[in-house]
Amino acid sequence: MVRSNFFAPLCIRRFFDAKKAYPLFIFFTFGVLTAFFSACSEDSDPERVVYPLENELYAMFPNDPALGDSVDAHLSTGVMMIVHPGGLYSLSFEVDSAYEAPKMQLFRIYPNQNGGSGISKVETVKPQVVGGRYVFTFVCEENEKSLWALTLVENNDYYRGKTRNVIFEGSGKYSNHLSLNLIPVGLIDPIDGVDGMDSLAKMLLQAFRKAYTSFVIDTIYVNYASKHPILGSKYPSDVHWHAGATSEDMTLAELGGWPVKGVNEALDIVLVHRINELNVLGYAALFASNLTGGEGSTVIVGSHVLTTTGERALSAEEIVKVAVHETGHFFGLRHTTSTWEDLENYHDLSVLEDGFEDTPYCPDLLTSGLYKKGKGKASVDYRMPYYGVKMLDSRAYGVTFDESGCPDAHLFMFPVSSEKTMTEFSKQQLKVLKQNLALIPH
Ligand SMILES: [Zn+2]
Repeated sequence: MVRSNFFAPLCIRRFFDAKKAYPLFIFFTFGVLTAFFSACSEDSDPERVVYPLENELYAMFPNDPALGDSVDAHLSTGVMMIVHPGGLYSLSFEVDSAYEAPKMQLFRIYPNQNGGSGISKVETVKPQVVGGRYVFTFVCEENEKSLWALTLVENNDYYRGKTRNVIFEGSGKYSNHLSLNLIPVGLIDPIDGVDGMDSLAKMLLQAFRKAYTSFVIDTIYVNYASKHPILGSKYPSDVHWHAGATSEDMTLAELGGWPVKGVNEALDIVLVHRINELNVLGYAALFASNLTGGEGSTVIVGSHVLTTTGERALSAEEIVKVAVHETGHFFGLRHTTSTWEDLENYHDLSVLEDGFEDTPYCPDLLTSGLYKKGKGKASVDYRMPYYGVKMLDSRAYGVTFDESGCPDAHLFMFPVSSEKTMTEFSKQQLKVLKQNLALIPH
């Protein structure tokens, strides 16, 4: 079936300007053909354009070994992906010899003037067969991070063959150097374990250099939000900042891409008094992958965490650990063991762990009660087509869970923070971090 369609403004607003969007999906409505759409029709193309079928699309991130069986199942009829300028991408899956080879149609999804979103075809790609797999390669010729979608086409309709074991890889041209920019927002109380903000910054720099061994971490800047060249007056230094309450935007994305040459391409780590969500220590979007400002350009950490009885102050060491962990999400790493909240967010129960062969996982975590089903709110303030990943306090919900019994507790991407755990990335994680950093303009 071939459909002409456009994205209904109502639905897409959720997607691009979301307050309560559903993660990993975009919602749009099909079946309405308008004059608007004719601007991007493909009349001159003899091949029919086969648009995504479903009104919900699963997302793929490059170099993610845990795409999930939903991507396998929906690949022909439409999956979306995040792509970066100049990135060279390869999508492959096992040949199904019962069918002819499909072609891949690529689409760009873009915001339109109506506050909605449009879709237009980019190109058609033919596969090569390598080692029993179809391999499609393409280059992203966009100027900025973009959202693309794909369908697989056979005889002007969706490909009906099986698409097993999908692998989506990306390689980029950007350097493996990265600088950090610590942005304290509002009043930050003295932090246990350090003597002031410069001392915290030094600790962060050391921790990042020790953890992110596949990057070269050049330096760390400290820039107070109150001294932002444009927005400074919005961020008074004598007020405790509660991300998600003092500011509607929990991610404080407007502070990303600090407008000073040299600093503008650093990773912006925003330190607030606390995140206004129960037991949440830090926040970043999965594969936020934006180092130059705007949506998805910040990693948020709190000096305190909101608890049922008030709030708890974090030590410097804990704050640093949370920053390292959230930054892992920023560059595309999932939790080593999925939490119930993750599974709800993924809308895919097959993604129980991160897919890396060298990171074990901990089934006990799912039954521990620490991350009970439905306890975490599945919807937070998403502004991106992928979901945010929050780090919860191990003391959350009054559950005693001995995370040291988990075989992945030594890894930074373990989902529960504790003093004893989380000391390294695995080799495969480090490799993906480096691949993904190379995709991201900076
Ligand atoms: Zn996390």
